[in-house]
Amino acid sequence: MNKPKRPSPNLKRNEGRHQDPVERTKNFEEVALGFNMEEALTEAARCLNCKNKPCELACPVNVKIPEFITSLYQEDIQSSVLKIYETSLFPAICGRVCPQEEYCEAACVLKDKFGSVSIGRLERFVADYARKNNMLKLPECDKDNGLKVACVGSGPASLAVAAELRKKGYDVTVFEALHEYGGVLRYGIPTFRLPREVIDFEVENLKKMGVKFIKNVLIGKSISLDEIRKDFDAVFIGSGAGLPSPLGVNGEDLIGVYSSNEFLTRINLMKGYKFPEYDTPVYVGKKVVVVGGGNTAMDSARCAKRLNPESVTVLYRRTKAEMPARAEEIENAIEEGIKFEFLTAPVELEGDEKGRLKRVKCIRMELGEPDSSGRRKPVPIKGSEFYIEADVIIAAIGQSPNPLIQQTSKIETNKWNCLVVNEKGQTSIEGVFAGGDVVRGGATVLLAMKDGKTAANAIDEYLKSKTSNKN
Ligand code: FAD
Ligand code: SF4
Repeated sequence: MNKPKRPSPNLKRNEGRHQDPVERTKNFEEVALGFNMEEALTEAARCLNCKNKPCELACPVNVKIPEFITSLYQEDIQSSVLKIYETSLFPAICGRVCPQEEYCEAACVLKDKFGSVSIGRLERFVADYARKNNMLKLPECDKDNGLKVACVGSGPASLAVAAELRKKGYDVTVFEALHEYGGVLRYGIPTFRLPREVIDFEVENLKKMGVKFIKNVLIGKSISLDEIRKDFDAVFIGSGAGLPSPLGVNGEDLIGVYSSNEFLTRINLMKGYKFPEYDTPVYVGKKVVVVGGGNTAMDSARCAKRLNPESVTVLYRRTKAEMPARAEEIENAIEEGIKFEFLTAPVELEGDEKGRLKRVKCIRMELGEPDSSGRRKPVPIKGSEFYIEADVIIAAIGQSPNPLIQQTSKIETNKWNCLVVNEKGQTSIEGVFAGGDVVRGGATVLLAMKDGKTAANAIDEYLKSKTSNKN
């Protein structure tokens, strides 16, 4: 095909094709349609192949961005995908959900003048193309070394540990509390952002490599951490941050009040959006209010919208500029007709005589001095209270680690109940490592994978030193 000469930085940045905003609110199919080959090559032509690689340095796992884009431009997809896999384990996932605008694309030298190269979309294109055309061979695994490692949870942190250690010849078993694997990728992020075939592909590959998966096992209840530690040579805890924070206002026991965790799990894991085909009704009524400004709030609002209420309104106590959600998903939500009430917080939930939510008392906020997060603190404006009618309210204001393992073992935690680890991911218990949201208290998929990789290397080092001491 005819492709632009490289470099052609002044070509318009391609934001990718999307499903029509009205149509897509009637289905749960993927919204971002990605690139076709021609679009990918044209976007790849924009890259300057910078010698000092600012994009690569800004990526938490240092994906070899200029090199993979160069191979793509040369239409050598095989080399391109292998370049990505050198440092990133699940590019079809990261290409879709990673906040590139904060990492690689923020550092792209074209950003201010022409618009950054669409690095995330190119990563997704290469990974999808390779998957669909069977170009991905399973990685070679070293000979079994007879050492057993357990991973608690099957989110991206544990999947990264499992992949890395299996390659090194370890016998790895992943224990998952739920009946499906993938953690938040499966129960939190909706199908219209991350199709399930992408997660299934990665889990199936790990199974083919010999990783064992056991579902419906809650470590700390079905088996204690001490027991599992005795049965395995090392343990990795990647149990995430699945405990929702309540709104902390009167009326939270009313019918129609959900945590985002419950709401999204009903839809994504229990397939509530397919009721009555699947036996999980999800009540949204006519008017839905979502509280929060992160990815969880956007996902909750956009899932609710697809269940066809009259309106979905997001309350966020700061302004659009401070919203922690991915920029692309905020724009998608706006396009889909989600309403936003910025500088607004709920102060009370009021119900009817049957105990059902009827309206939300809100207050307007203004931004004051920066708080500990560095963002300007929202301060209530006296006398600015007003009401919004609502049948359902979804609280998406943050999550903290599930306390079960912490409560049933002597592992060290901090004041937010996150596990305390050193720079290698080692916890206070010998042979027990941790990473991802259970340590960071709610971060990103890529950081969870990065932690998993760090911990896998540390586990390898620990077990090698133990076995060599024995000899
Ligand atoms: P998780 O993904 O939370 O997985 C932990 C797993 O451990 C779960 O499957 C859980 O069931 C299991 N588990 C917990 N306790 C036990 C136990 N005792 N025994 C056995 N199993 C247990 N990040 C991005 O980068 N981009 C996004 O667009 C994005 N969107 C998000 C949307 C939502 C709705 C949410 C909630 C988060 C989002 N994030 C996003 C954040 C990201 O998903 C997390 O940072 C990441 O999944 C953390 O990975 P993890 O492996 O640490 O834990
Ligand atoms: Fe290409 Fe931008 Fe990276 Fe330079 S900074 S190599 S232009 S993606």
